[in-house]
Amino acid sequence: MTDTLIPLGEDRTKDDAQRPLMGWLWRTYLKPQRLWIGIAAGLMAIEGSMLGALSYTVQPMFDKVFIAGDRDAISWVALAIGAIFVIRAIAAFGHRTLMQGAGLRIVTEMQKDMVAHLVTLDSRFFQANPPGTLIERVRGDTTQANNIWAVVLGVVGRDIVSLIALLAVAISVDWLWTLIAVAGAPLLLGPVVVLQRYVRKRSFAARDAAARLSTRLDEIFHGINTIKLNTSEDRENTRLATTAGGFLKQEMQARIGQAAIPAMTDFVAAIGFAGVIVFGGSQIIDGDKTVGEFMSFFTAMGLIFEPLRRVANVSGAWQAARASLERIQDVFEAKPTITSPNTPAPAIANPETADIVLNNITVRYGSEPALNGATFTAKAGQTTALVGASGAGKSTVFNVLTRLVDPSDGVITINGTPSTALTLPDLRALYSVVTQDAPMFDESLRDNIVLNTANVTDAQLADAVEAAHLTEVIERLPNGLQSPAGPRGSALSGGQRQRVAIARALLRNAPVLLLDEATSALDAQSEVRVQAALDDLAKNRTTLVIAHRLSTIRNADKIVVMDQGRVVDEGLHEELLARGGVYAGLYALQFADA
Ligand code: ADP
Ligand code: MG
Repeated sequence: MTDTLIPLGEDRTKDDAQRPLMGWLWRTYLKPQRLWIGIAAGLMAIEGSMLGALSYTVQPMFDKVFIAGDRDAISWVALAIGAIFVIRAIAAFGHRTLMQGAGLRIVTEMQKDMVAHLVTLDSRFFQANPPGTLIERVRGDTTQANNIWAVVLGVVGRDIVSLIALLAVAISVDWLWTLIAVAGAPLLLGPVVVLQRYVRKRSFAARDAAARLSTRLDEIFHGINTIKLNTSEDRENTRLATTAGGFLKQEMQARIGQAAIPAMTDFVAAIGFAGVIVFGGSQIIDGDKTVGEFMSFFTAMGLIFEPLRRVANVSGAWQAARASLERIQDVFEAKPTITSPNTPAPAIANPETADIVLNNITVRYGSEPALNGATFTAKAGQTTALVGASGAGKSTVFNVLTRLVDPSDGVITINGTPSTALTLPDLRALYSVVTQDAPMFDESLRDNIVLNTANVTDAQLADAVEAAHLTEVIERLPNGLQSPAGPRGSALSGGQRQRVAIARALLRNAPVLLLDEATSALDAQSEVRVQAALDDLAKNRTTLVIAHRLSTIRNADKIVVMDQGRVVDEGLHEELLARGGVYAGLYALQFADA
């Protein structure tokens, strides 16, 4: 239950190196691309074997052409070497293109799957994991992980083939030289294992740092006006510099670790080459070996170290990619707790006549309860007003009705059916919600109003726009309803956004209306008219209203008084006032001057 409050990956145990990553990756993402990956692997093998062929042709080049002076051999040796390079070029182009394509398709699939999964998670999850962090997982980690396919496949398909072909050439020249050349290789084992662990740790740290960086950026760009108005640009710049510096440090360490692994092969190469020259050099002087043989061997060994370095590089690259893959898996492993039941009750038959009963509801966001055993009934077709000081838990009542949060205790019933027995779509179809902050999307006004409401006619849309008092706003815009609302609705004023939200609710026409200070951002004149539209909408409809105006409250069929998460009183204005207590206090402070 509290799982969703843990930021992603915070519960990562130190030793989960054994997570079943490969099976999941293969089934979900690699298998659909297997045809392209297979062809690419074939092309890589061709590219790889060309190195062997190249070093092989060095021997006839020296012994037949240069040393024996066979002019006829010149043309076919030249042709062979030319052909080798042409084949290599075509194969390399082919597999690079195919692997890039496969990699990009995998990234896109992963991103789509991650977002589809993320939107099912609880609202609390998004509080524990801010947008920047999640964007970094969806974009940064998939891209980082994507680098690995080409690296791994390049090694498996091309470099291993190169290594085998080149080793075969080297051994065919002299197995003892070959043995001397690679004698130092086992020395690599210990340091590589240590380095791998280091790269893995630093890569996780670097990805976390990247997420913090994205979070900072997200907050800066969203909070830009607040930053300007408080002249806190310098403060933000300093904070960003610190975060960016942290990322730089971790990322540098991860990359140095990665670069160190292939560099170590060069130490081994140094020992090997020196050994072969000392040992083989005297054999040639003694006439036991030809110069061509030595050149062929030397070319093969010279060519071996590049693929060998890449093979060594793979372990570091894999550790870095693995860190990202595990972070992607973390996302898929986060499970929602607010879900539809497995065997749902049928949708409420006559929602217009359904009483909504909150029975002893307790909701906790943290340790302090936001609702503490709240109990009241919202009668069908009536308007129930919730009043209470700021922080009393009024908005939380709406969150718990619509299951944005679930109570830790208590049941909500609609016509006797527990809200948790309904599917989430059935439950949420019952409600139209208008909140104080009226969130919007960067789409046209029309799309913002219609959202997901199906089969909206132009006449219905025009009615909703009219009733929400939006007509003159839209008439003033150059593109009318098609005008963009701007990122998060920033092209509109607070009051305009609120009217869009009201039009949205009018159009949605759900049986239960939840109004959370729905007209708070309107000027007095608009408010009177929008309020009239809302009153119309509320007629014969179950309505819960969190109001900031006495007039709205007085018109309610019932007032529920809340204080510190509890329902402390209910009744009508005059009764409550006569009783004194919390309501009388609120009235004196908030409403008396109205
Ligand atoms: P009201 O709408 O009456 O002003 P709320 O229902 O919004 O009050 O909040 C009730 C209490 O719950 C407050 O103390 C508030 O700080 C806390 N709260 C509300 N939402 C959250 C949240 N998402 N995470 C943590 N605490 C919250
Ligand atoms: Mg509130």
